[in-house]
Amino acid sequence: MEWKNWSGRLACSPGEIVIPKGESEIVSAVRASAAAGRRVRCVGAGHSHSRLVLTNETLIDMASTSGVVRADLPKAEVTIRGGTRISALGPPLRKLGLALHNQGDIDRQSIAGAVATGTHGTGPTLQNLSASVVGARIVLANGDVVDTRADLEPDLFKACQVSLGALGVMSEITLAVREPYRLEEQMWLDDLDEVLGRIDELTQATRHFEFFWQPGGTRVACKSLAETTAPVVTPLGKEGTRLSWSYEVLANERDDRHSEMEYSIPAESGPECMAAIRDLIAHDFPDLSWPVEYRTLASDDVWLSTAKGRETVTISIHQGIDVEDEPLFRACEKVFLSYAGRPHWGKVHYLGGEGLRTAHEDWDEWWRVRDSVDPEGRFLNPYLAELAGRGK
Ligand SMILES: Cc1cc2nc3c(=O)[nH]c(=O)nc-3n(C[C@H](O)[C@H](O)[C@H](O)COP(=O)(O)OP(=O)(O)OC[C@H]3O[C@@H](n4cnc5c(N)ncnc54)[C@H](O)[C@@H]3O)c2cc1C
Repeated sequence: MEWKNWSGRLACSPGEIVIPKGESEIVSAVRASAAAGRRVRCVGAGHSHSRLVLTNETLIDMASTSGVVRADLPKAEVTIRGGTRISALGPPLRKLGLALHNQGDIDRQSIAGAVATGTHGTGPTLQNLSASVVGARIVLANGDVVDTRADLEPDLFKACQVSLGALGVMSEITLAVREPYRLEEQMWLDDLDEVLGRIDELTQATRHFEFFWQPGGTRVACKSLAETTAPVVTPLGKEGTRLSWSYEVLANERDDRHSEMEYSIPAESGPECMAAIRDLIAHDFPDLSWPVEYRTLASDDVWLSTAKGRETVTISIHQGIDVEDEPLFRACEKVFLSYAGRPHWGKVHYLGGEGLRTAHEDWDEWWRVRDSVDPEGRFLNPYLAELAGRGK
């Protein structure tokens, strides 16, 4: 039995793949694995480029646990089954009078997978998805089901916001949401140095701003999304011209298979770091044909979040799957680390436990809480065990 991630660059041979239809089947799968002495990993949509999912033991595939469980309209909160794809959330939430505050560049991820890795979109006032979590229901290693919120099992709650899938299986997640809103999109070409010189003005001008630099040139494709009350334009236009509900404008098609490294940098260093990445690529990787993406992310207070305690810029490097990506990514990582970068949990990086401890002040605390609910390491794979310095 072989499992591969979205890009096809990561593969493993799970001893079994279980596809539970609901929480009781998740509990049974976790208990059966414990009884058989097997460790467990969980998979959402398999869109991560890091080795988080890989296992040769039990893989729990959450694809069949989907849908909205309940909404609390006065509090603007919604509870969603862990395996729900973000793409399946827009219309049902709008019917309820609700919408996500923000989402990433695509909407294929499962909500629990996206939350587990601190997935984010762009916008200087908008935090990542983990920061919008207000509660989670989790199946622990011993099969117990626990509800956690900031005021209920607070340490467990904090560790669950960026869980790396290492605390248990999230059967449900409760998110802070808002009323539905429409976005109008604009795209234009500009000069990289010009844009970096005006970056504060550009990022403050609309709710969402980002740009893509195409290596080999000086041009960037800028993209801004502004909230609007104008009527939706149908049919939905192509990327760069849309005016519609947020979930239709925020999501893009990114079907060309690639691998990706992304680092979060303190916002004030973003332009200088971007210029250093540009110079590195122009000099050492002149053949790179994939764009570099520059986004912003608001500060939060979430353990292991790449935006914890600082306004943030994220810079993403892409490479096709038919090309060796390691020399490019290692060279870029050196630059990112020189700007106090923190790697995206779902993308390629080469940091071990020591590097991650340096990047995240909550690293040891997160592991203490994780170990308290899973002392036998039932939810660890060799990769996570290695990060914890515990062999494999
Ligand atoms: C084309 C593409 C575009 C992307 N765009 C963005 C972007 O714009 N912004 C961004 O920040 N990231 C982006 N990513 C990265 C992506 O959002 C993350 O890797 C995300 O984790 C993928 O979600 P998933 O459902 O595929 O999770 P998976 O890759 O399946 O799993 C990720 C982690 O979540 C855990 N997990 C999954 N489900 C559960 C559950 N129910 N309970 C407990 N743990 C669970 C897994 O064990 C694993 O540790 C992109 C990736 C791709 C391939």
